[in-house]
Amino acid sequence: AKSAGRNRLVAFVPEMTLAAQRRAQLEAELRRAIEQEALLPYYQPQFDCRTGAMVGVEALLRWPHPERGFVSPAEFIPVAEDTGLIVELGRWVLRRACADLAAWDRAGAPPLTVAVNVSARQLKEPDFLGDVLAALHASGLAPGRLELELTESLLMDDVECAVAFMHAVRAAGVRLSIDDFGTGYSSLAYLQSFPINQLKVDRKFVQSLPVAGHTIATAVIALARGFGLAVVAEGVERQEQLDWLRAAGCDHAQGFLLGMPMPAAQLLATATAPRTA
Ligand code: C2E
Ligand code: CA
Ligand code: CA
Ligand code: CA
Repeated sequence: AKSAGRNRLVAFVPEMTLAAQRRAQLEAELRRAIEQEALLPYYQPQFDCRTGAMVGVEALLRWPHPERGFVSPAEFIPVAEDTGLIVELGRWVLRRACADLAAWDRAGAPPLTVAVNVSARQLKEPDFLGDVLAALHASGLAPGRLELELTESLLMDDVECAVAFMHAVRAAGVRLSIDDFGTGYSSLAYLQSFPINQLKVDRKFVQSLPVAGHTIATAVIALARGFGLAVVAEGVERQEQLDWLRAAGCDHAQGFLLGMPMPAAQLLATATAPRTA
């Protein structure tokens, strides 16, 4: 393996350059797309496991690229984070999500909540809370209708700073949810000091239900119960997963089985349509 090392290094350099070039191009295109407001949020519905009612949505950014179709957030969010573009983009998503929810209210939709993903870079911005409050103010939405999704790794990055932020957000009445719960490294002890409202069971555990994954899913639901938090399962794709979650006492569910991420107009149509199931 050692003797192959040199050859591999030589072969690897052009690839690195190519990746770097591709990234630089992506950055330039992303910058332009943000300026031209070419990105848009899609909304994926979340449902009450017991009643089947739609209770909220998660805003998920989409980038329809002129040549490459939809670029995955998994590809462009990291670029936006590294370049700091996420600050402006995140501010814009917050405003759009709040404005869309307020518009659905006026159009007669049931009172949904909207969840917006927050990245570590945004949390470090001194006036991120100001951005959140400005988005609420501009839309006229009650703070309790907005939920911020924070990941464990984001919270563990600078625990003191994160806890201070969380208390300020909660004091303003905005809801907090821990995304991808169970995949990060946060010690359970921290959960006690996090002023959160909800845990989001990661898709990884939901996907292997009911055969595997149930040990962790059961533990997360019990943990949420103990702390008085709500639980939402993400990535629900099959009926048997939903049945298991409902029986296990999970509060909310989200996934392709129940609804795909969709444009705002389509979400409104879905939310106001008479229910069949
Ligand atoms: P996430 O926050 O964990 O979002 C859930 C992802 O799972 C979304 O992928 C969603 O489309 C997908 N999903 C939902 N239901 C199912 C299902 O039943 N099966 C499967 N296989 N997948 C499902 P998406 O939209 O590609 O977003 C990927 C990630 O990009 C998100 O993961 C989030 O971390 C990030 N992201 C998206 N929008 C934003 C944003 O506005 N701001 C920030 N900071 N990050 C964002
Ligand atoms: Ca999320
Ligand atoms: Ca997630
Ligand atoms: Ca994720």
